[in-house]
Amino acid sequence: MDITTVGIIGAGTMGNGIAQACAVSGINVVMVDISDAAVQKGLATVSGSLDRLVKKEKISAADKDAAMARIQVSTSYDDLKAGQLVIEAATENYDLKVKILQQLDAVLAPEVLVATNTSSISITKLAAVTKRAEQFIGMHFFNPVPMMALVEIIRGLQTSDATHDAVKALAVKLGKSPITVKNNPGFVVNRILVPMINEAFFVLAEGLATPEDIDAGMKLGCNQPIGPLALADMIGLDVCLAVMDVYIAEFNDSKYRPAPLLKEMVAAGRLGRKTGRGVYQY
Ligand code: NAD
Repeated sequence: MDITTVGIIGAGTMGNGIAQACAVSGINVVMVDISDAAVQKGLATVSGSLDRLVKKEKISAADKDAAMARIQVSTSYDDLKAGQLVIEAATENYDLKVKILQQLDAVLAPEVLVATNTSSISITKLAAVTKRAEQFIGMHFFNPVPMMALVEIIRGLQTSDATHDAVKALAVKLGKSPITVKNNPGFVVNRILVPMINEAFFVLAEGLATPEDIDAGMKLGCNQPIGPLALADMIGLDVCLAVMDVYIAEFNDSKYRPAPLLKEMVAAGRLGRKTGRGVYQY
């Protein structure tokens, strides 16, 4: 299946990033959110981001205009009928996503593919609430979407090969480097990343090194662009803790126990950059 028009649900951080990546790659977009204000805000974000690329001479002003012309915005799911694929990038909430997926089943033709950008919800479980489990898949983009090369393509238990292949081909068309992953908590990247961050809190609590030296060690010794503790402050310590809580609940394996220091900092409201203090002071 050749995907030439993509519907996107949600015009927030990820939705407008996905819209931009599609539009600059020649894919038509219909971006839907719950209000005119939300879709216009998403569109303005894309416009501003493309303006910066024009300024840096990465694209021409004509390229920007052509990309913007490919993005249609709407507050009605009916306008999603035009596409071969709809990517759900709405707020991370299971009940909300179930409602959206059921609304999509009511308007989309059966052969239309549906992908979700969820970070944490089981693809197999979401597929089960749709009438198109074989045509359902995870497409986990990374933030900021226009900059980040990776897309994790997550196969639910019932995802068909045709769906996987079509979505993978689209990711390549967007200039991304997709990897294919079986559905499981955290997929691949967060499954490895978040326990590493958690381990850094154990190391810190054991007094093995200062935060600065732990981060310098991982940057210089493992070629990571940012140390795990500074990264935790960027992601949010509460988010890291929530992910570990999911792993321990889902895998029932003590190797995923959250570091007590991570829990203490979250309890103290030291959530990272967003609260002005996490491991470091901002
Ligand atoms: P966001 O809060 O920036 O945007 C979510 C948007 O969804 C909002 O504009 C909201 O109005 C809209 N929305 C809510 N209900 C809707 C509905 N019924 N119909 C249409 N739109 C609706 O959130 P985000 O950061 O863009 O995250 C979106 C999804 O992407 C989540 O599932 C999240 O887990 C996932 N994700 C986020 C990141 C990240 O770094 N932010 C990275 C990877 C994946």
